[in-house]
Amino acid sequence: MDKFQHECAVFGIYGDPKASLHASWALHMMQHRGQEAAGIATWNGGNGFHLHKETGRVRTIFTGSVLGNLPGQIAIGHNRYSTCGPNTPQDTQPHLYTSKQGVEIVGASNGDLPGYAKIRSRLEAQGYELKSNNDAELIVALIAFYLDQNLDEVEAIKCTMQELRGGAYSCVFIINGKLFAFRDPRGFRPLVLGRHYEAYVVASETVAFDILGADYIREIEPGQIVRIDGDRERSFEGVRSDEKSFCIFELIYFSRPDSWIFGHSVSRFRKREGDMLWRLHKHVIRMPPEEYVVISVPDSSNHIALGFSQSSGLAFDFGLVRHHYAVREFIEAGQAGRDEVVKFKNNPDKAVVKGKRVIVIDDSIVRSTTIRKLVRMLRLAGAIEVIVLIGSPPITHSCFYGIDTPTQAELVASQMEVEGIRNLIEADYLGYLTIEGLLECTMEPSGTFCLACFNGEYPEADTIPEEKLKVLE
Ligand code: SF4
Repeated sequence: MDKFQHECAVFGIYGDPKASLHASWALHMMQHRGQEAAGIATWNGGNGFHLHKETGRVRTIFTGSVLGNLPGQIAIGHNRYSTCGPNTPQDTQPHLYTSKQGVEIVGASNGDLPGYAKIRSRLEAQGYELKSNNDAELIVALIAFYLDQNLDEVEAIKCTMQELRGGAYSCVFIINGKLFAFRDPRGFRPLVLGRHYEAYVVASETVAFDILGADYIREIEPGQIVRIDGDRERSFEGVRSDEKSFCIFELIYFSRPDSWIFGHSVSRFRKREGDMLWRLHKHVIRMPPEEYVVISVPDSSNHIALGFSQSSGLAFDFGLVRHHYAVREFIEAGQAGRDEVVKFKNNPDKAVVKGKRVIVIDDSIVRSTTIRKLVRMLRLAGAIEVIVLIGSPPITHSCFYGIDTPTQAELVASQMEVEGIRNLIEADYLGYLTIEGLLECTMEPSGTFCLACFNGEYPEADTIPEEKLKVLE
């Protein structure tokens, strides 16, 4: 895939007689954030935890019989995309862990921990065994360690957060029959709180609430710990930071357009990006408007293209039609090479693009392989001019905060200027958003968002291990 890859989704529900069923619905709605594995753990009072996790997709894993074995009114769930390492059963989440004093904890996380190796060595030296290479299991074991120091759950989570400096994590946990949700102090990954009748719900994205008919209450604040117990929700300060680093790519690409992320409607944000692209690149339109058609690379660029069309007055149409069925498995079966993936996924509609000056809008360029093929396909379909506009600034740096990105050398914008990329992808014009333009679309003060993949200014850079930074040299 010539895209940054989604990371994971987390979900939690407290006080719902159908907790596991509703967790499976919520995870299904967030399947775009991870398709490699899924898991649900429930708490059933005196009978303790029930856990089911395996590789595959939510709808095939959580059948009626599986859900029937997940009783209880409290549940957490997780969709996994493996940012690194193998996709083994041990690496799937949630993780169940028993402290030395016999307290059972179950937890799941979305993110990445730069200090993983050091903390793991320390825990193992103290007899806290880990079965996977998964960040979430490390967090579960750390909480177990602090519970063993006779701290209460909130204090144990607070101490854990202090050890995870520089990490990106949004977590859901069940400890002693209580649901906990907490988020790293810079708030890299989203986490929202809602109410479903008498039940409380937490999720990576608000689309998980929509399927349940749950009401959105608020974002869980960066650095905050939320505890849900009885019919009460209480918030505690975990670790404070005056600086925020919300991942801007959640708004650009990762999250569904019908979600609210960091307090913003994702679809409205993307339309503002389209408007900004028009304001930055309107000079490229030199011919009568009826000669142009605005198209998107579906689906993540649809709203950016719509925003561009609305601001410019140029017609929007569906010039690329997306094939929704599994392509990767078919290709891997040896039918064709990687190049054919693009052709399988997107087919130009000649009725839309033939004889037109096509303005094709995409959310980002990573390696450039996809957009180069799309430009060629559009020309073969009869486009007389191909203008490429991108809803993000050039990506020049890898991510160390839970997003699967290629090495810096593979990022085309780290190797050449815009004109070189235009030449490479054989477009008549190539235009990006500027960092300033992108920030204006957020309508937030500067310093709210992480922009490291565009400017190399890594938050808490001193916590990133040297071997990871080496790929930048
Ligand atoms: Fe998001 Fe880019 Fe920052 Fe990674 S480096 S957290 S992808 S904005």
